[in-house]
Amino acid sequence: MRVGVPKEIKNHEYRVGLTPGAVREYVAHGHEVLVETRAGAGIAADDADYQAAGATILPTAEEVFSAAQMIVKVKEPQPSEWVQLREDQILFTYLHLAPDPEQAKGLMASGVTAVAYETVTDRNGGLPLLAPMSEVAGRLSIEAAGSALMAYNGGRGVLLGGVPGVAPARIVVLGGGVVGTHAARMAVGLGAEVTIVDRSLPRLRQLDELFQGRVRTRFSTMDVIEQEIAAADAVIGAVLIPGASAPKLVTRDMLGGMKRRAVLVDVAIDQGGCFETSHATTHADPTYEVDGVIHYCVANMPGAVPLTSSHALNNATLPYGLALADKGLAACDEDPGLMAGLNVRAGKIVNDAVARSLG
Ligand code: NAD
Repeated sequence: MRVGVPKEIKNHEYRVGLTPGAVREYVAHGHEVLVETRAGAGIAADDADYQAAGATILPTAEEVFSAAQMIVKVKEPQPSEWVQLREDQILFTYLHLAPDPEQAKGLMASGVTAVAYETVTDRNGGLPLLAPMSEVAGRLSIEAAGSALMAYNGGRGVLLGGVPGVAPARIVVLGGGVVGTHAARMAVGLGAEVTIVDRSLPRLRQLDELFQGRVRTRFSTMDVIEQEIAAADAVIGAVLIPGASAPKLVTRDMLGGMKRRAVLVDVAIDQGGCFETSHATTHADPTYEVDGVIHYCVANMPGAVPLTSSHALNNATLPYGLALADKGLAACDEDPGLMAGLNVRAGKIVNDAVARSLG
């Protein structure tokens, strides 16, 4: 199959659909890979790296779209890309179609067959192509908290790990799923005092085993959240209720009980945020203050580390992408998890949940 990799054009998106290492795997499977020039600029992979992996470099996105039978991307296609997609093509990328009727119309009009990373499932019902970005966001959330705690960024001026004789920072992680676990790992690694709050007792038991006494776990109630955030230097919001907006676990009133210039990092901002006072921010201007508490609410955290994120994403997408390139749509018939990724086919939305959201 001819597999095309255009350069991402969404504002401040520096990741790339295929890394040179992934290209080499596609080429080894007998596929031809067409990469737009400078597609890997954001991950320190230049055209020569892609050529060494066996790709052909094309000078424009138009040439990639026109020649490819399958397009591999990162972000949802932008309007200028919808019009280049065709009914004989497979699109494999993040789509997040449910809240985006304009894009849905664009993709349906193109006739393209679109497989969305975010709805592909694994044997346990997990979301294997979302997990790597949650891992990145979770780990990054502690770096974000550490940076926001610096005095010159408006924070309390607390060093996460403390020093001998001075207590380390107290970090509270709300939600002990993928994001929360990776946040806790980083925070523990830096020597902070960490509490994970979750409403799932089985999950708290697993975390207790995993961290071998190095984190406190607490069951999520309003009382517990109020107590924990009052003592915290930084709170990481990492809750998820699948298919729903994030619950508002910290209200504006509760900010009054927190330490001045403590930090809230709302990783769940892409689901509306789990702090009442959150609104989405960007990497260019990541924080703001409400009632003396610093808020960091960047909606696309993995975009800050495109090199790590692209490699992590490719590790997860590679087997699915290769199956699609090797077998075409028959790959979906063989794997129900990949079939769950199918969102658009022959001008129709074919994923039930996405179709319901779009009405
Ligand atoms: P996950 O499903 O692995 O974990 C969510 C956890 O939240 C679960 O353990 C669940 O039991 C817990 N939870 C639900 N309600 C709770 C409550 N009331 N109190 C305490 N815990 C509760 O999800 P995840 O992959 O870790 O994702 C977490 C959030 O991070 C999601 O909103 C996701 O969209 C978001 N995310 C954001 C970015 C970003 O760039 N901002 C990147 C990746 C993921």
